[in-house]
Amino acid sequence: MESRFTVRFFKRLITFTVLTVLLILTVAVIVLAVKVTALSAQINDASGSDAGGDGTAEPAISVEAEALPYQEKYSTLYVKEPFRQAKPKSKTVYLTFDDGPSAACTPEVLDILKEYNIKATFFLVGKISENKDIVQRIIDEGHTIGIHTYTHSYEYIYQSMDTYLADFEKLWSELYEEFSYRAEIFRFPGGSVNTYNYTLSQQIIAEMYRRGFVYFDWNASAEDAASGHPDSDVIAERILNGVHNADRSIVLMHDSAAMGTTVEALPEIIEQLQAEGYAFDKLDRSVRPITFSYLK
Ligand SMILES: [Zn+2]
Repeated sequence: MESRFTVRFFKRLITFTVLTVLLILTVAVIVLAVKVTALSAQINDASGSDAGGDGTAEPAISVEAEALPYQEKYSTLYVKEPFRQAKPKSKTVYLTFDDGPSAACTPEVLDILKEYNIKATFFLVGKISENKDIVQRIIDEGHTIGIHTYTHSYEYIYQSMDTYLADFEKLWSELYEEFSYRAEIFRFPGGSVNTYNYTLSQQIIAEMYRRGFVYFDWNASAEDAASGHPDSDVIAERILNGVHNADRSIVLMHDSAAMGTTVEALPEIIEQLQAEGYAFDKLDRSVRPITFSYLK
């Protein structure tokens, strides 16, 4: 008797539980349905509020932002291929040469890079038509060319997005037309944060990223563009100190005219760092950038 009672009791308990769960689920579904209906009615109200009630007009709020005038300029100034940053390479040094090409300096730099079998990066300015052989050598020998703007004039390029883009595009298209070279990276004259461009640099970065270009600052510098050009041993010391302070280094040097001591310092820098186990490489869009911020 007792066991029959127990079985019946448990059967009823299970039935009761199942029915209760079903009831709760039904109530939940009804509440949810009511809420969704109310919400969609609200959305319809909002989008139809300016439409005079006929329901055929466009929604009042459009999610598509209008293109800014400079975004519609230079329809070919794009790097179309998508890119992915590679894992940062440890103990790697990226030598970069700004403000060239120059007949006085760049061929010697190229000779040294060739001797040590090193690839580097040249951020050029608009002196390429009078140095065609040198530009062709940079390309043929497998180095990277980046855009450093045509005029390098802080006053002009940092006036507005229009002047910056015009100057950038002038060099970019000349490189493409003369050498079939499509530059994909760039460097700001004076670096990405400086007293000339701080109100504009974020806008430039956004626009150039939108067009597929990547920029690089530096974390080791020869400081060889300063007046009173430093001796080669001072340059070497500054660069070695900078490189020793970080796992990866982008080294700023210049190969414009009158940079003789930079060229002189180069073999010593390369030999010392190679002896310490550093590798050298060129920049491209797969390299994780080293960039300035407003905080130091
Ligand atoms: Zn420069």
